[in-house]
Amino acid sequence: MKAVVIEKPGVVVMKEVPVPVPQPGFARVKVAAAAVCATDLEVLTGRIPANYPLTPGHEWSGVVEAVGSPEDECWIGKRVIGSNDVVCLKCDACRSGNWRYCKEFEEIGFKRDGAYAEYIIVPAYGLCELDDHVSFEEAALCEPLGVALGTLEKAKAKFAETCLIVGAGSIGLCMLAVAKAMGMRRIVVCATSKKRLGIAEQMGAYATIATSECDLEEEMKKIHPGGTDVVIDATGIESCIQQCLRLAKKGGRVLLAGYGRGKIMNIRMDDVHINNLQVIGAGNNWNMHKLAATLMADGVIDLKPLVTNVMPLDSYQEALEMAEKRPLGFVKAVFKP
Ligand SMILES: [Zn+2]
Ligand SMILES: [Zn+2]
Repeated sequence: MKAVVIEKPGVVVMKEVPVPVPQPGFARVKVAAAAVCATDLEVLTGRIPANYPLTPGHEWSGVVEAVGSPEDECWIGKRVIGSNDVVCLKCDACRSGNWRYCKEFEEIGFKRDGAYAEYIIVPAYGLCELDDHVSFEEAALCEPLGVALGTLEKAKAKFAETCLIVGAGSIGLCMLAVAKAMGMRRIVVCATSKKRLGIAEQMGAYATIATSECDLEEEMKKIHPGGTDVVIDATGIESCIQQCLRLAKKGGRVLLAGYGRGKIMNIRMDDVHINNLQVIGAGNNWNMHKLAATLMADGVIDLKPLVTNVMPLDSYQEALEMAEKRPLGFVKAVFKP
């Protein structure tokens, strides 16, 4: 089969590799769609350590083609998404549902081969059947949607609370979709350029703010007087996070959902301490993929506007370059292997 392989940090090729065989408890899925994520670029550069050589890709959907255990044969031929978490299922962490605390935890696309290929091996216990009318392209976004669901749930976001989202990339837009579905109000999305905010407007943001054209903090005083209940950073940029801390109301929550591995940042302690803020990290998206698929199937959440570029796997270089440079109008590239 064809697969995109990162041979070592900085070296990515497409090559012919053997079709993988599912071990007991695993399934082989024919990949129908695989989305490119900014973290894939970190695996490519080596900033996220991975088991090289590695096929990246953790946002996927497809059809089950083969299974490793007879009891999983019911999955064959089903349209699916699934968990990327390979765990023991036996330890205390696994049995309490905290798969990511399992000592044997390995994530597909990072420690195990991912979805930039014709086939992927995934754990059968994490499979989730996909409703017929959800497209494979949209379904591939169940993973980033799970991040938004998990993070807003952890923050105990509530009906009628105000929300500000800093950053209009895929995570920012998934947060917008979830915040709206949860009944939050006056959901504001900001980005540097007005041209990056069109999709947020289309998805029903209450207001959008281009930070290159006006002062975010001044604008927010008019929209959320007294501060914002839930402020979400979806950039991972130090100055944005500092601003988020200033914009949350006293006793509010700041959610850190931008990519920040290895970064050390300066935070003015008073912004957190005196204002009694809760600062909450993303990344707790385990077991959220089924909920993500249900919400998509029932039309509660529509992520179709995020799929801006559909391309063949052969165009992986172009897709990775777009994910890095983020040209205007680009949110997500999705491969159709
Ligand atoms: Zn991702
Ligand atoms: Zn375990």
